[in-house]
Amino acid sequence: MPCEVKTRFLLLYGSQSGQAKAIAEEICQQADEHGFKGDICCMSESAKYNLETETDPVVIVVSTTGDGEPPEKALQFVKGIRTKTLPPDHYAHLCYALLALGDSNYAEFCKCGKTIDKRLQELGAKHFYATGHADDGVGLELVVDPWIEGLWEAIRKAYSNMSDPNQERNDRARTGQNGEPAESADNKQVADLKIQLLRINDSNDLSPDLPEPSLDKGKSGTETTPLGASLTTSISPLSESTLNIPALPPQYIHVELMNTTTKEENFIPPDQEAEHQVPVTRAVQLSREDAVKTALLLELDISGTHISYQPGDSLNVFCPNNSGEVEELIQRLGLAEMREHCVHLQLRTDTKKKAAQLPSYVPEKSTLKYLLTWCLEIRSIPKKAFLRALVDYTTNAAEKRRLQELCSKQGSSDYNHLVRDPNLSVLELLLAFPSCSPPLSLLIEQLPKLRPRSYSAASSSLYHPGKLHFVFNIVEFPQCSGRAVPRRGVCTGWLSELISPILQQHGRPSRDPDSALVPKVSIGLRPSTAFHLPSDPAVPFIMVGPGTGVAPFIGFLQHRAKQRQENPDTEFGETWLFFGCRHKDREFLFRDELEHFVENGTLTHLKVCFSRDAPKGPEPAPKYVQHNLCLHAQDVARILLQQNGCIYVCGDAKNMAKDVNETLIEIVGKELTVDKLEAMKVVAELRDKKCYMQDVWA
Ligand code: FAD
Repeated sequence: MPCEVKTRFLLLYGSQSGQAKAIAEEICQQADEHGFKGDICCMSESAKYNLETETDPVVIVVSTTGDGEPPEKALQFVKGIRTKTLPPDHYAHLCYALLALGDSNYAEFCKCGKTIDKRLQELGAKHFYATGHADDGVGLELVVDPWIEGLWEAIRKAYSNMSDPNQERNDRARTGQNGEPAESADNKQVADLKIQLLRINDSNDLSPDLPEPSLDKGKSGTETTPLGASLTTSISPLSESTLNIPALPPQYIHVELMNTTTKEENFIPPDQEAEHQVPVTRAVQLSREDAVKTALLLELDISGTHISYQPGDSLNVFCPNNSGEVEELIQRLGLAEMREHCVHLQLRTDTKKKAAQLPSYVPEKSTLKYLLTWCLEIRSIPKKAFLRALVDYTTNAAEKRRLQELCSKQGSSDYNHLVRDPNLSVLELLLAFPSCSPPLSLLIEQLPKLRPRSYSAASSSLYHPGKLHFVFNIVEFPQCSGRAVPRRGVCTGWLSELISPILQQHGRPSRDPDSALVPKVSIGLRPSTAFHLPSDPAVPFIMVGPGTGVAPFIGFLQHRAKQRQENPDTEFGETWLFFGCRHKDREFLFRDELEHFVENGTLTHLKVCFSRDAPKGPEPAPKYVQHNLCLHAQDVARILLQQNGCIYVCGDAKNMAKDVNETLIEIVGKELTVDKLEAMKVVAELRDKKCYMQDVWA
C-alpha cells in the first residue's frame, strides 16, 4: 500500500561494471511505486550527500572487484569510513541497509560490502534491514529480487521506529540485533521474505544466526527443469500457473538512425583504456589437436608502447563482438539497410526512469554496426527485466506467455536452466521467439557495455624484452535447447580467428610487424596489486597453476631465471610448481620450458598430475593439484608456517581454487594440530599478510 506522503531515503551505489548502479536505479524506480523517494548518488559524488548529517534511512548497493577490492568509485568512501580517528559513535545517528554484490567464484566474496558493513557497525550505525549478499556466480537476482521486495516494508518500519523510539527498542528485541525484517502475524509477506533471505544469504560476519550459503544454489541440486520443457515450451504446473512477473523497465532512450556519410574507420574504440594497438608477433598452439580444450599462446610486440609490466600483472584485451553475429542481429532487428547509419541517442523526455543517463560508452556518431560490434555486450545473458520488456514486443500469444514465464517468479528454475546456465544471448532468444521484434533502443537500454577480457601475462620483460605473452583456452559453448549451432567465447573466439593465418604460417607472421596486414590487438595493462614475486629473492614460494593457470608462473620463472643469471652470488629461495591437466601428452603446457627451468635450478620442484591418464604403477596417482599438495603437505607447511614463504594460486575459480583452499586448511590443521576453525583463521592470516595470493577467474 503506497504511503501518502513520499518519504525520502538516501540511496548510495558503488559500481564497477554497472551492475550495482543498475540495481540502485531499479530500487529508485520501484521506490516511486511504493511511495518513497530515493535520492540516488554514486558513492564518489560526495558533494551530493553527507552521511555525517543524514537522518533518513540509507540504502547502500556496492559491488566488489578484483581481488576483493572496492570499485574505483567507492574507494574514497571506504577510505573515509576507515579513518582510524573516527569515534565509535560517529554514525550512531545512521540507520542503513546494505546490498553487497560479489561472485562466490572468488575468494573474497562481497568483501567490499562486508568491509563497509562491519565498519559502519563499528561506528555505531544500525541496520534497519538484513544485509543481502548477492552472488553473480549463481545469479544476482536470487538475492537481489527478494531483497528489494522486502526493502519497502523495512523502510516503512524504519520510519515508524524513528517516530517512536520505544517501538524501535521493542522491535529490535523481537527481530534480533541485525534488524532483519520482523516476523509478525500480520505481515506474512515480510516473514516469507525473511525465510527467503535466511535461505539464500551468505553467512554474515555480523549475523552468526544466518546459515552458510549454498554457493551453487540455482545452478544444480534442488532446482531442476521438468523433463519436456524447452526454451520455447513449458509444461505443467508452470504452463498453468498464475505468474508474478517483474515490473516493466521504464524506457529512457530515444534512438534515431541517421543516414550520414561518417565512416566507421574514423572512430576509436570507445574505451580510452585501450591505448595500445600492438602487433601479434607469434602464435603457438600449446595443446595437441586431440585435447579437450585448445590452448593458445600469443606474443605481442609492445616495444612501441609505454607498457611496463611485471610478471603477475594482467592485460586487458579489447575485442569486438563476432561479426557474423552482429550481422545476424542487425538482420533480425530489421535494420539491414541502416547498418552504416549513424546512431543518435537522446534521453526520452517522458521517461519515468530516475537519474536516467545516456550510456557513456556509446560514442557520438557511431554507426549501428559499430555500436553492436564494439560498444554493447550482445552476448550478455538477458536479465529477467529484459525478458519482461521483450514480452511487450511479441505478437504471438504462445511466445508471449513463454517469455512471461521465463521472467516470472514461478519460472525461475526454467530461466536458470534454459537461459542463464547455457549463457543464451539476446540473438539466440530472438531467433527462438520469431514474433518478438524489439526496437534498437531496448537493446541499448538493456545490454551492458562490452567489457575487455583480462589475461595474465605469461612472460617476463627481462626474458623477452619488448614482448608480452599470454595464454588462453578457446571457450566453447555447445548446442542446446536455445542454440542451434555451437559457438565460441567472444574474445577467445575472436583471437583464435585473428591468429589462424599466423598458426598456418608456423607461428610467425610472414610480414614486418608494422605491416598493416599483421593482426593487431588493442590492449591495456591491468596491474596486480600483490600477485608478484616476493621482493626478497630468498623467500621460498609455491605456485599452484593447473591448465592455463600456469601462465603467470611462466612469467615468474622467466624473471627468476634472469635474476639468477645476473646475480650469481644472491641466495634464492626454493620454488615449487604444482601443475595439472587432463592428459600428459595432450595438454602439458610449457612442458619443455618447465623441464628446462628444473634442469637449470630455477624451479626446484615441479609436481605434475594428469587427471585422465591411467596411473603408471600399482599405486593410485594424484589426480588434481590439491592431491599433490597433500602428498607434499610437510613441505607446504614448512614453507608457509616456518619459513614465511608464499603460495600463489592461479586458474579456475569454480573448482580448483576452492579445493586448494580446503586442502591448505587441512594441511595447516594437521601441521598445527588445531581444529578446522583455527586452521581457517591461520589461512585467513596468510591471506591478509599477502603470503597466500590468488589470481583466479571463472
Ligand atoms: P565469453 O564470451 O565472455 O564467455 C565466458 C563465459 O562463459 C563465462 O561466464 C564462463 O563461465 C562461461 N562459459 C565458459 N564455457 C562455457 C560453456 N562451455 N558453456 C556455458 N558457459 C560457459 N583466461 C585464460 O584463458 N587465461 C588467462 O591467463 C586468464 N587470465 C585472467 C586474469 C584475470 C584477472 C581475469 C579476471 C580473467 C582471466 N581469464 C583468463 C579469463 C578471461 O578473461 C576470459 O573470461 C575468458 O578467456 C573467456 O572470454 P571469452 O570472451 O572468450 O568468453
